[in-house]
Amino acid sequence: MILVAGDDKDSGTALAWATLCAGAPALDAIEQGVRAVEANAEDHSVGLGGYPNALGVVELDAGVMDGRTRASGAVGGLRGFAHPVSVAYAVMRRLPHVLLIGEGAARFAAEIGAERADLLTDTTRTAWGAWCAGQGLDRAVLDRVSLVEAVWGGHDPQRPGGTTVYLAQDAAGDIAAATSTSGWAWKYPGRLGDTPVAGAGFYADNRYGAAACTGMGELAIRTGLARSAVLYMKMGMPVIEAVDEALGDVQSLPGVAGDITLYAIDAQGGYAVAAIWAGERSVEYTMAVHGDEAPTRCAARRVLAK
Ligand code: ASP
Repeated sequence: MILVAGDDKDSGTALAWATLCAGAPALDAIEQGVRAVEANAEDHSVGLGGYPNALGVVELDAGVMDGRTRASGAVGGLRGFAHPVSVAYAVMRRLPHVLLIGEGAARFAAEIGAERADLLTDTTRTAWGAWCAGQGLDRAVLDRVSLVEAVWGGHDPQRPGGTTVYLAQDAAGDIAAATSTSGWAWKYPGRLGDTPVAGAGFYADNRYGAAACTGMGELAIRTGLARSAVLYMKMGMPVIEAVDEALGDVQSLPGVAGDITLYAIDAQGGYAVAAIWAGERSVEYTMAVHGDEAPTRCAARRVLAK
């Protein structure tokens, strides 16, 4: 059984599937798929053309996890490089660390010869300018004013499908997860969401399955969401019940208002996706799934709220 599952952006999952069919390991295949989404300047939530932070600077987050060993690599707040997912993968392979941020991440990216890019496009510069104007912020003095109030008006305009998240199982049965995002538009500089945080935004364990999230990353961090979904599978729940149970943990947070989508695969080739939208859990959602049988775009199965 080989399988690629994830959000249904662009043709990234199709590329990941083709790479997997050509014999690539799961993590290599989904790295290629995520890179395709990162290169798309029309997607304003990932990579090139992602919306910037409140200061107009694009800061990218990405993470990978290898379900064979549960080795992981991630970068947060990476500026000026085109493919954070590949830098994250290199963190896993080449360093004794799991997560690099900011200047250190950029230094490492330069050291390994990662592709540089000017991530802010005319479109996103204009959108950021409009946001500043809407907040009454003078762009010339942003370094000297408080952003505390303004960032409450920040959001991900493409939520809850902002991040790109891919999961895969290869012919050897190995499972992997990969994520990439520019995070919330107009976020406070230095803000990290769940996407570069193993256990929150992604998790992979060959024994049980893998999971990854899009949406309000703060909620996934607070609940250890991706890890929870895999843990519920370990406890014996079918994958669809596991994602439902994990989203129930999000709903149990007092005063929570935020959208989140949770994607998962199990070690037997099963998959599921569920979401919380506008306070309602278990709405129908879609994910792209390419499996042995026939490549298909699957509609999520409805998960019954408990
Ligand atoms: N999860 C991402 C974050 O919180 C954003 C998103 O998926 O829309 O940075």
